[in-house]
Amino acid sequence: MLQFARAGAAVGATTATLEKTRILGAYFGTLSEDDLRRAAVYMSGRAFAPSQRRTLGLGWSTLSKVVSSISSRDEDELGRIFRKHSDLGDWAGEALDGGTRSEPVTLEEVEATLEAIRTARGAAKAKPLEALLMRLDPEAARFFVKIISGELRIGLSEGLVEAAIAEAFSVPITQVKRVHLITGDIGETAVRCKRGEFEASTIALFQPVRFMLASPVETPDEAFTRMGAETVWTEEKYDGVRCQLHRQASRVQLFSRDLKETTAAFPELVEAAPGIGHDVLFDGEVLAHRDGRVLRFFELQRRLGRKQVDAELRREVPVVLVIFDVLWLDGRMLLDEPLTTRRKLLEGLGLEPPFLLARLEEATGPQHLDRIFAETRERGNEGLMVKDPLSPYTPGRRGLAWLKLKRPLATLDVVVTAVEWGHGKRRGVLSDYTFAVKDTRTGKLVNVGKAYTGLTDAEIAEYTKRFLEMTVSDLGHTRMVRPEVVLEVAFDSIQHSGRHASGYALRFPRIVRIRDDKPVDEIDTLERVAELYDRYFGEKSEVPLSEVAET
Ligand code: AMP
Repeated sequence: MLQFARAGAAVGATTATLEKTRILGAYFGTLSEDDLRRAAVYMSGRAFAPSQRRTLGLGWSTLSKVVSSISSRDEDELGRIFRKHSDLGDWAGEALDGGTRSEPVTLEEVEATLEAIRTARGAAKAKPLEALLMRLDPEAARFFVKIISGELRIGLSEGLVEAAIAEAFSVPITQVKRVHLITGDIGETAVRCKRGEFEASTIALFQPVRFMLASPVETPDEAFTRMGAETVWTEEKYDGVRCQLHRQASRVQLFSRDLKETTAAFPELVEAAPGIGHDVLFDGEVLAHRDGRVLRFFELQRRLGRKQVDAELRREVPVVLVIFDVLWLDGRMLLDEPLTTRRKLLEGLGLEPPFLLARLEEATGPQHLDRIFAETRERGNEGLMVKDPLSPYTPGRRGLAWLKLKRPLATLDVVVTAVEWGHGKRRGVLSDYTFAVKDTRTGKLVNVGKAYTGLTDAEIAEYTKRFLEMTVSDLGHTRMVRPEVVLEVAFDSIQHSGRHASGYALRFPRIVRIRDDKPVDEIDTLERVAELYDRYFGEKSEVPLSEVAET
């Protein structure tokens, strides 16, 4: 573990990507296959390979209790050290310095500890954590805690880990990426590259394949220019959850966007899949629907992450799978086939509910696309996917073959009521803003969301000073501020939410600009939020299923 930490620290000490790759490649070159598999995953900032679909379930309070007990430092001192770093790993490294036995610990032992933490329940998670931290050198502890916190923060992207694998085993980077796209597992990729096993790198049923992603565009013109195509295909952008369905005879498995297995959450799909009559790997979107209508995302949320779905919930929130791609059909891999071929194969399957096909329309120019876009918005959908009909399916890639066209609905003018210290690059500045609208009935401000994107570093630095002066109460990580800074925020949608006093939450809010020109009296109201919700996102705006999808 100490060698891992030293390699990680050396990578973090340089900003030159070539140098990072060289250091990491040299380290990977020294490892056995088993350690290579582990180190590649940990260097990507993960405790487990995504294909293992595991999570640690370890909270901050357990970690802080363990660090406090080993280091014999009190809460105040630990808090002071944390504020200095704003990084859990760096905090633990300093806090534990002098308190541990600094013994050699192997990556195998690290793996066993992570597994023991994962399988322990509640407070029992502290025991394996404490046993390992006690033994580690503080530098190794620093990196161990970075791994469990899910981020190394040493300027390593997954792309750089791939480059280091290429460098370590003299394999072209394109080859490494291809293996990674298919395995979806950086540890497995590293081992296959070390062994020179490339032929076996094809997709297999019941091994989740990374999803193809879309790049955002703002206008129909931009969609055409970026795609560089004469005609494009458009599909509705369904507001559900991404789902991959694998089916071979009576065996069926479902995977979510982060490659976790979600089979148990959607029994109606599992029960109907044998009826498809072919071995398939589908890509699509799960939607909640009832009485022929698509329900809003927040209804679908009740079905997510379930290990068991009872009959009542199935009745209240039934689901369908709207399919837009097929990657495997009866033993044939279709990744490299053009979308036109894949779609034709899909249409030939004669699918029946709960399996539907995404509604497809061809657009021959920007104006045509604009009209289709307007129609889809009229139907209450959030946007349109624009796809190059000749494109292959590129797993894991956010390229230009799939674009998403969604214009922000409207913006809201809101006022900042609380601010938080940022993490990582944003440490030492107040970068996360909670904001409110006005409830005209009570005259009070009510929070509707929290935004942390959209401002430049210079703006954040300037406003940090202002917020420090405007603080009315300092809660440590969070500061309540005088409501004086007005922001214009864009967002993707509005949900009902118990998190904020307003009863609503904006989804994916981004700061468009700071409205110095606007007095707080003139910010938007709760009524306006409710109106937008009803118009676009509430029960009343539900879209008839027949209009969004066809079989
Ligand atoms: P975003 O989450 O904004 O990056 O948009 C991409 C997501 O839109 C995908 O991951 C899918 O879950 C979803 N989506 C909805 N409809 C489609 C469609 N017809 N084709 C591809 N993705 C879709």
